[in-house]
Amino acid sequence: MLIIMKPSATPQQIENVIQQIKKEGLAAHLSQGIETTLIGAIGETHDLATEHFEVLDGVEMVKRITQPFKLASRQFHPVNSVFPIDGFQVGGDDIALIAGPCSVESKSQILETAHAVREAGANALRGGVFKPRTSPYAFQGLGEEGLEYLAEAREQTGMPIVVEIMSQTQLDVMLNYVDVFQVGARNMQNFNLLRMLGETRKSVLLKRGLSATIEELLMSAEYILAGGNKQVILCERGIRTFETSTRNTTDINAIPVLKNLTHLPVILDPSHATGHADYVSAIARAAVAAGADGLIIEVHPDPAKAVSDGKQSLKPEKFAEMVKQVKAIAEVMGRRIAPINKPVTMGW
Ligand code: PEP
Ligand code: MN
Repeated sequence: MLIIMKPSATPQQIENVIQQIKKEGLAAHLSQGIETTLIGAIGETHDLATEHFEVLDGVEMVKRITQPFKLASRQFHPVNSVFPIDGFQVGGDDIALIAGPCSVESKSQILETAHAVREAGANALRGGVFKPRTSPYAFQGLGEEGLEYLAEAREQTGMPIVVEIMSQTQLDVMLNYVDVFQVGARNMQNFNLLRMLGETRKSVLLKRGLSATIEELLMSAEYILAGGNKQVILCERGIRTFETSTRNTTDINAIPVLKNLTHLPVILDPSHATGHADYVSAIARAAVAAGADGLIIEVHPDPAKAVSDGKQSLKPEKFAEMVKQVKAIAEVMGRRIAPINKPVTMGW
């Protein structure tokens, strides 16, 4: 339920509404815009009459949020959510460009990649250290050693780091290193993990499950938001279809659909969506043209030798070429790739 306050509502009247929401056993979520104050009453509101709030002083209108996701809904929060990721803003006019290898393999590999992508224009670095591999015999990631290398890459390049978390047991160690937690497609409905990330105050990049609907993605985001963590970035990464010529099928529709349904930033991962380096740039361009707030791209200095996802990884030169094209599309869309303010402190 959404309680819309009058522009003239006083802080005391807002507080009274919040107290009334709590008395009903619901959670109150305040969203204060320049002109309007919206208060969400979140919980079981089916049987609750809107009159309970309509009679309170300072209340203009009470609306039911019809979608099953509430905090993630644009009905609840009409303007785009914009929040900082160490050094730049995500969700506003600027585009996030997260790049790096699928897996951190060695110190030299991540440092070389980090410098190359930063030089090409990336504003954040990705790298997996706990890998969700289809086979239990495949490389599972470097663990904390990999986090240390990523931290060094951040130190040298000024780029925040985005790392996948697979289980609750990894939280404590990761909190010391990462700027953005990535939740992979396979864990999109790991509700315990989502709840735990909702308790943190670090950004979460939530990937769409392999066969998840857009509504299911938004319900997963709701788990994180319900814990009070407002910094959720949604990521379309391709879905399973009958088509086999690409690893997955990019649901390009998901970008405008999500932008319509939610205030959260939406980015696209053309690497996993296509599974093939030759197609990554085309889909990256399409994503920005469709209104994506960012991209996450796999880049490897020597894709043929990559321990995971080499086939879909761009060489640094190809990535630089892609960035030029994406910049041009961003300009047409009235946007730009977010610059990072921090200096490169050490060359490669
Ligand atoms: C990844 O980003 O390397 C990854 C495993 O992605 P996804 O969860 O989308 O498959
Ligand atoms: Mn990968």
